[in-house]
Amino acid sequence: METTLNGTKLEVIQGDITQSSMACIVNAANSSLLGGGGVDGAIHRAGGRRILDECVRIRSERGGCPVGEAVITTGGNLKAQYVIHTVGPVWKGGKNGEAEKLGNCYRSALRLAEEHGISSLSFPNISTGIYGYPKEQAVDVAIEAVTDVLARKQAFERIQFVCFDRQNYDLYVERVGAL
Ligand code: ADP
Repeated sequence: METTLNGTKLEVIQGDITQSSMACIVNAANSSLLGGGGVDGAIHRAGGRRILDECVRIRSERGGCPVGEAVITTGGNLKAQYVIHTVGPVWKGGKNGEAEKLGNCYRSALRLAEEHGISSLSFPNISTGIYGYPKEQAVDVAIEAVTDVLARKQAFERIQFVCFDRQNYDLYVERVGAL
C-alpha cells in the first residue's frame, strides 16, 4: 500500500530488503558495525565484502556507531547504491529512552540520506527482531519520526517500509493507511 505525504511517496511492502530497488537501504546494525544476525547478516551476505571493509574502516576511524546514529557505506553488490547503517536500541522495558533512540535512528538515516542526495530509501523495522522492541510500539515511533521529517522537507521521492514478517506488515498497512 502507499500514500503521498508532502510530495514523498510512502510505501509499505512485505519482503526482503536486500532485494530493494531503492537507491539506498537502511541496515539495523549493531554498534560494532562488524555485522550480526537478522537483517544485518542478510545485507552483508547479499552485499559482499566491500560493505564490511567500509564498516571496518569507519569503526577504526571513530570506534563504531552509537545507538540512534547512522553511518553510510557503499551498497556493494546490492542493487542499492548505498547502505545506511543505524543502530537501534535494545528494548529494556521502555523506560530507558528506547522510543527517543529509535526515533533518532530514522531521523539520522534521513539526515544522512539527504546529505548524500539520496532520494529513495528502504527502511527495515529497526529493533523489532533480536533487539526485542515491541512491534506495535516501534511502528508508531517509526512513522512519527518519518512523517515529522517529511512534513518539513521535500528532499525525498520515495520511502519504503520493508516489513519482513506479516505482523509488522499488517501494523504498517494500518498505520500508514490512517495517515
Ligand atoms: P534488531 O537487532 O534491530 O532487532 P533484526 O535484524 O534482528 O535487528 O530485526 C529487525 C527487523 O528486520 C525484524 O523485524 C526482522 O524481522 C527484520 N528482518 C530480518 N531479515 C530481514 C530482511 N532480509 N529484510 C527485511 N527485514 C528483515
